[in-house]
Formats: sequence, structure tokens, C-alpha cells
Amino acid sequence: MNECHSWLACDDIRHLDVGELIGFGAVKHVYQTSWQNNTMAVAFLNNNNYSADFLFGIEVLKQLGWSKYIVQLIGFCEEVPVFLTEYHPAGSSVNVDIIFGNDSHSLSQRFQLCIDYVKILAFLHDSPAGPLMMCDSSTLVKTLEQYLLTTSGNLVLNDVDSLAKVMEGGTVCGHRELKGDFVAPEQKWPFDGDEYRTERMPPYSEKADVWKIPPVCSFFLGKSDGARALHYHLHNMHRRCREKEPHRRPSARELLRAYETLNWSYFGKKAEEKEEL
Ligand code: ADP
Ligand code: MG
Ligand code: MG
Repeated sequence: MNECHSWLACDDIRHLDVGELIGFGAVKHVYQTSWQNNTMAVAFLNNNNYSADFLFGIEVLKQLGWSKYIVQLIGFCEEVPVFLTEYHPAGSSVNVDIIFGNDSHSLSQRFQLCIDYVKILAFLHDSPAGPLMMCDSSTLVKTLEQYLLTTSGNLVLNDVDSLAKVMEGGTVCGHRELKGDFVAPEQKWPFDGDEYRTERMPPYSEKADVWKIPPVCSFFLGKSDGARALHYHLHNMHRRCREKEPHRRPSARELLRAYETLNWSYFGKKAEEKEEL
């Protein structure tokens, strides 16, 4: 995207040809399309039950899509509903191994993805409107699918339709019981034997996102010998993210500083002088 243009509107979008399917989830079907010879991604609603989530996603992109941490919004038409975003040919961050291969050469680029991931979380958690938590992240793969790899080797958040604002006393993600190894302990139903009821579920904070950082970063680093050596240096930081008590975990911002210090001492890479959004 090298030119400024106002968001495309219904009239521009209606006439676009829809190309190949590039991905789908519970809420969206995403296809390739082209506007004035630029390839783009066009997202359609997949299931009418999720129309509110889809429209909420457009609203969030309107508000946050200017940030370099979030996929760029190109246009939308709420009547259809449909929206256009910048197309990232490398696809979601599940594809890290396909893009980088599995040797130690790519380790510093792979660690950059860990840094980007924590930067994105710090950006969401420090949002001026109050902390935002990434709710559609109940498994590792699901979490990875919400982020895209850019051709410059960075990560951007793509799926914003289930970001939740964290209220004073905390928030509960969605209306279904969360289970499995990946979710934070406080996200699990604590009343064994009783049937799950969202209203009774104790609310929790964005520290649930911090709990999930170590497995996501480990996935990005891969399984090379170099990754194993780097893990040794990450061990203490990652152990703190896995504290059972959420308040004992570091903030994403604190972890970002620690990652950047390590990036400097290990790879000789300096953090960006000025925090660019
Ligand atoms: P859902 O809200 O249904 O989960 P997502 O927004 O997560 O939908 O998109 C589903 C998948 O489509 C992503 O995991 C990714 O593989 C692909 N995708 C979505 N948008 C883009 C894009 N702009 N460029 C490349 N791939 C995309
Ligand atoms: Mg998704
Ligand atoms: Mg979604």
C-alpha cells in the first residue's frame, strides 16, 4: 500500500470480482480480490449468528486500523456486510515453519515475531479506551490464526472481532466454557460439578493474554538447536508469565522491554528508538 486513499465504500466494493478463498473461521470467509490492479482480501460473513461480531470487527478496524500492529482496512460496506483489507500472501502466523524453514538461521527473524506479538498485546492492553483482551484464543492454533505474517517478516493482528474491553473488575470472554491446556487457569470454570453459567463465571483481566505468551513465542522460535539455546535465556521471563496468580505475571509492556534487552544482547539488535504505532 503505497498511496493514500479514502476507505472504499459500498459502490466501489459491489463491483469487485471475488477470487480464490484464502481462509475462513467461524465468523468470516476471506477471498482474494483486486481493485485497480492491487490484490486485496475481502471478508464476507460466514454465519448469520455472528453478524454482530463481524460488524464489531469493522468498527474496531476503523478505530485501530491506522496502527502498524493491525491489518490495514481498505474499505467496507456494512449493508452487505463486507470489508476489504490489505492482502498478506504469507497468510496467518500458523505458517511460520513454511515461511522460515526449521534451521537456526532464521532465529533472529523468528524472535522478531515474539517481539511483535508482545508489542501487539502491549498496544491492546494500553489502549486509551481501556485494556483490550484477545478473546478468540482458546487454543494455540486458534490464537496463531488471528495474526498474519507480512512480507517484511513482521506480525500484524488481523482478526479483531473478538477483542473485549476489560472492565474495572475484569471481563469474561464469550458465553461458552473454556477448557484445555492453552487457556489461563482463571479462564476455567472453577465450580466443579456445577453446570457452566457465564453470569457466575468470575471475571478476569488481560493477564490471561500474558499466560499464553510462552507457548506462542515457542511456536514462533521453532525447534532448531538455536531455538533451544535461546529458550534458556527466556526461561525466567516465561516462567513468570505462567504464574497461577494473574497479578504475579508481568505486563505485556514489561515483557516487551525484557525481550528487547535480550534482542540487543543476543542478536545485537536495538529496539526502535521511538515507539512507532
Ligand atoms: P474469523 O473471524 O472467521 O476467524 P479471520 O479474520 O481469522 O476469520 O480470517 C480467517 C483466515 O483467513 C485467517 O486465519 C487467514 O489465514 C486468512 N486471512 C484473513 N485475512 C487475510 C488477509 N488480509 N491476508 C491474508 N490472509 C488472510
Ligand atoms: Mg479468526
Ligand atoms: Mg474472528
